[in-house]
Amino acid sequence: MEMNNKKRRQSMILYVIIALAVMLAVQQTFATFQRKSIKNVSYSEFLTMVEQNKIKEVELNTGTGIIRFTDGDTKDKDTTIYETTLFPDDDGLVARLQQHEVKFSAQIPDTRNDLWIYLLLSYGLPIGIMVFFGWRLNRRMKKAMDGDDPSMDFSSGFGGFGMGNLGKSNAKIVGEKETGVTFKDVAGQDEAKESLQEIASFLEDPKKYSDIGARCPRGALLVGPPGTGKTLLAKAVAGEANVPFFQISGSEFVEMFVGRGAAKVRDLFKQANEKAPCIVFIDEIDTVGKRRDAGLTTNDEREQNLNKLLTEMDGFDNNKGIVVLGATNMPDSLDIALTRPGRFDRRIPVELPDLAGREAILNIHAHDVKMEPNVDLSIVARATPGASGADLANMINEAALRAVRMGHRRVTQEDLVESVDVVIAGEKKKSTVLSEHEKQVVAYHETGHAIVAASQKGSAPVSKITIVPRTSGALGFTMQVDEDEHFLTTAQEMRDKIAVLCGGRAAEEIIFGEATNGASNDIQKATQIARAMVTQYGMTERFGMVALGQQRNRYLGGASELTCSEGTAEDIDKEVQRIVEEGHREALDTLRAHRFKLHEISRYLQRKETITGEEFMRIFTRDDGFAPTLPTMS
Ligand code: ADP
Ligand code: MG
Ligand code: ZN
Repeated sequence: MEMNNKKRRQSMILYVIIALAVMLAVQQTFATFQRKSIKNVSYSEFLTMVEQNKIKEVELNTGTGIIRFTDGDTKDKDTTIYETTLFPDDDGLVARLQQHEVKFSAQIPDTRNDLWIYLLLSYGLPIGIMVFFGWRLNRRMKKAMDGDDPSMDFSSGFGGFGMGNLGKSNAKIVGEKETGVTFKDVAGQDEAKESLQEIASFLEDPKKYSDIGARCPRGALLVGPPGTGKTLLAKAVAGEANVPFFQISGSEFVEMFVGRGAAKVRDLFKQANEKAPCIVFIDEIDTVGKRRDAGLTTNDEREQNLNKLLTEMDGFDNNKGIVVLGATNMPDSLDIALTRPGRFDRRIPVELPDLAGREAILNIHAHDVKMEPNVDLSIVARATPGASGADLANMINEAALRAVRMGHRRVTQEDLVESVDVVIAGEKKKSTVLSEHEKQVVAYHETGHAIVAASQKGSAPVSKITIVPRTSGALGFTMQVDEDEHFLTTAQEMRDKIAVLCGGRAAEEIIFGEATNGASNDIQKATQIARAMVTQYGMTERFGMVALGQQRNRYLGGASELTCSEGTAEDIDKEVQRIVEEGHREALDTLRAHRFKLHEISRYLQRKETITGEEFMRIFTRDDGFAPTLPTMS
């Protein structure tokens, strides 16, 4: 509602501004023309000039009695035009003019036309423009009324209003005959592929299905976080079935000019109907298909596009073989009308790849680049839990770029390992120059994380510590890599993780007796974990197994909403505080116990800037002849 009106208002304002500008420009031109070249003089002056032979031409407007005369050639640009009014009883004027050889006439076409042109241009033109566009608008509205969806095309008319032929939908629809992608190009995602296989075989031979009376799903929704290969999968289905692929992005629906979205939907389905069997892929469908009742501010435009989409989906002949695939990372926000049977009735999860999936994806993309034969992709796969397919593809590419930069003939293991950092933590920042003291603080901070992690039983081993700043803003980081993946996390593991996160700040406190802002990210993460433990995982005695919050979007790492009373919310805060503080205590205790190692390792780190997990463990586990004294009291 809001946006629609706003756009409409915007195009109105734009249009009025143009009209005003034209009017002003025309008037300005005339005004300057008059001011510059027409000089008003008295009749006696006129006579004097005649006597002095200064006048070349005279024109009399017999109607108004205005005399215009020039002192030179009228074609000459410098010639001044004078104006005076005929004195009533001057009968001798003609004789006098003749005597002084002045060319004279009684028609003054210029003056008369000037006025008309002036009026026409300054008032007629803008009015004309207005009438023209008004007429266009009207016609379009009428056409729309005859058509299928009046409200939509009404706004479409407004979109084109004053802006030429924008009313016509020029939907940029990619109708690919060959996507060139098949399931072989998609690694992992076996479950998704299985679900889509059926759609592919239906598209290959729709008749086989309709003969039996089976109805293939009209639409399927690919649901998963960004970069997991949803677009790739959709293309692969088209490639497998060898059918055309039409792609449109949801964000294209909600356009700068109101109303074109709906026209695009219509165009899209018209083309699809002609080319069936085919696949229509709607990316980011959540941008059009947002739940209509969500929130107070609704969006008319989007709603109209959604309605259009729904009617189109209901309208097409299912046996022809058009399958609509949608992709979203916000399935919860989709309108229920979209997900009911007969529309996107199938939901296909496309999750982040697991260890085996990551390695398979790396292998696929590694084919595109030249690699040293001894490169081990499984190391990269293990170092990248949580990375999406797109991230991994990007890593291979970054590695290749680095190889070129470094002058390698093939991509080396080192290129790969570096590229992991580039993609995960942002490129090494060359320009940030830390002062010696800052470097020291960062070194202690990172070593703090590492020591707390290493002294825990179940924690993932430290694989790398670095104090080379990244473009992401991190001044350093400590990487922990699990041997293999696990999907369940225990309460103890979460508490351990919090302690590790607190390790950085704890080290700063112990060594420098002062906190820096370097721990803000750690603090945020620790708090998030603690809060989830309390509100989502039922891991506290205080609240037990009661869900106190609800996660808004599990794919985009959305924040959770509390679903409890205000009093409880206060208690939750206290509980979260307690859990994080516990981790902080543990980190402090651990680091105090390993105070010497903390000094030694961070000095080593300051010197080397980046150290491997092995180097770290070698120093950390080396027996220095005295066991760490665990304090009994803190
Ligand atoms: P999404 O549409 O889910 O955001 P895309 O399909 O656009 O993700 O994926 C982006 C790129 O990431 C792909 O072009 C491909 O190179 C790579 N990619 C993602 N997932 C996979 C996968 N499972 N196998 C191979 N490549 C993948
Ligand atoms: Mg995509
Ligand atoms: Zn930190």
